[in-house]
Amino acid sequence: MSSPVDNKENKGEEVISRNFIENIIDKDIEEGHCKKVVTRFPPEPNGYLHIGHAKSILLNYGLAKEYDGDFHLRFDDTNPMKEKSEYVESIMEDVKWICGDLDVEQVFYASDYFDQMYECAIKLIKKGKAYVCDLSADEIREYRGTLKEPGKNSPYRERTIEENLDLFERMRDGEFEDGSKVLRAKIDMSSPNINMRDPVIYRVARMEHHNTGDKWCIYPMYDFAHPIEDAIEGVTHSICTLEFEDHRPLYDWVVRELEFENPPKQIEFAKLYLTNVVTGKRYIKKLVEDGIVDGWDDPRLVTISALRRRGFTPESIRKFMELSGISKAQSSSDYAMLEYCIREDLKMKRPRMMAVLDPIKLVITNYPENEIEYLDVANNLENPDMGNRKVPFGKVLYIDREDFMIDPPRKYFRLFPGNEVRLMNAYFVKCTDYLTDEEGNVTEIHCTYDPETKSGTGFTGRKVKGTIHWVCAETAEKAEVRLYENIVDEEKGVYNEDGTINVNPDSLKVLKNCYIEPSLAEAQPMDSFQFVRHGYFCVDSKDSTKEHIVFNRIVSLKSSYRPK
Ligand code: ATP
Ligand code: MG
Repeated sequence: MSSPVDNKENKGEEVISRNFIENIIDKDIEEGHCKKVVTRFPPEPNGYLHIGHAKSILLNYGLAKEYDGDFHLRFDDTNPMKEKSEYVESIMEDVKWICGDLDVEQVFYASDYFDQMYECAIKLIKKGKAYVCDLSADEIREYRGTLKEPGKNSPYRERTIEENLDLFERMRDGEFEDGSKVLRAKIDMSSPNINMRDPVIYRVARMEHHNTGDKWCIYPMYDFAHPIEDAIEGVTHSICTLEFEDHRPLYDWVVRELEFENPPKQIEFAKLYLTNVVTGKRYIKKLVEDGIVDGWDDPRLVTISALRRRGFTPESIRKFMELSGISKAQSSSDYAMLEYCIREDLKMKRPRMMAVLDPIKLVITNYPENEIEYLDVANNLENPDMGNRKVPFGKVLYIDREDFMIDPPRKYFRLFPGNEVRLMNAYFVKCTDYLTDEEGNVTEIHCTYDPETKSGTGFTGRKVKGTIHWVCAETAEKAEVRLYENIVDEEKGVYNEDGTINVNPDSLKVLKNCYIEPSLAEAQPMDSFQFVRHGYFCVDSKDSTKEHIVFNRIVSLKSSYRPK
């Protein structure tokens, strides 16, 4: 089996690694089996998409693009039980966001093929390859055998073609109770692969379907429906995750027996897992249903809608998928790598602003009363193309509480009584005094400033070791800032023994009393910024309003991930 980087191709200067799926497609094209690559992403609309799905979307979309082929979003909506149109809409939005575009012509619904699937079943019956079976679900399980023992033939296996055709039609017409009869593929009850032991391909189930209503009371099973859906759409490479590897012989059997002209090929790859992060749809759903999070898009989740709300960009997710690679070997990626990707993406693109999250007042005693001056500040030190802005400065400022200490340890270079620091983009200030409340908390700091030391004037008189950020109290806007930690208590691991999730009670911290530069008041939902020293922040798309602006912390500036 090929590893993800076993095959390198020189394109100009750059060495491009081919993954094992590209190797398979290259060979199929070379040997003339494939003229135009068609891939698909086939979500079941039973929940919101998560970061694992993003991997599958980008893989399939990326291959279609690379080979100048087609990419389909196909809703795998053959199971009417759990599907909701809310999910269909959210999936559409997420795929569009991840890929950058999505045309209506690229969207397909498996339920549109129910007629063809029914015809396929008739074809198998006519070929003597399928039969109606009256065993109960429990009996079918018993007859199936085990990994060690072969199964036993059903007593209904030898029904005639005529009898099967008649019974199957009557199943469709609603003559039989739910669960009383099924249609089974006639393959091999002694196959070492249990999936090949006459699998059920149609069942009777009286359920409303979101697309077809009550037209059908029989529904096809996944292993039968999926290859047919692929074949109908002309999918050439049907890429799925490793748990379907043992189902591949059945996939191949279905497309072969139905004699599709250009049968699709199933290829499996390893799922994306994130260490200590809840990724399974089932578990995310549980957190939502139990009210532990604020909906599917709660910024602590790794659903695509949550990542978007938190402030991640499609580019950062794409970069993350590149770094995590495509492979056959199961592994787990670090959330820190995803954080690295968003920092890298925003670093050059977003302005660096000043925001104070835990404010204390700083008064410059020798600064003129009622004066506001506008200082020239670079928007992004690493990207001069982003230009400058004017930031107001005055006698009364806010600074972050952690930037002042009454009695500092050695090597503390920020503000303390008698010490001088630079106010970022402004002047040197020296602490002369401070006030406290009854409990000894600092409530106000007094400083003097040196007008000679204004930033950008080339002042070289003396040096200070610390620089701290600030906002001007008179012009500042108030904001709410939400800081996030993993929703899971990492010390204890993701799951308890009984399958429930170890919830971290401190995963959300809400700071209601933050001050931001006045220009940030104009920020729109989804806009993101760097806040000096605090990290990258994004205006919340759900709760932020003009009167009450809310920022989500996307990621802090500190990194525990080192790129190779
Ligand atoms: P979950 O594993 O969260 O329950 P699922 O597999 O039930 O999700 P589907 O809607 O059936 O979700 O998945 C749609 C596609 O996404 C499938 O092709 C599936 O293999 C792929 N997929 C699901 N989870 C991952 C993952 N973690 N990494 C990569 N691909 C995934
Ligand atoms: Mg599934």
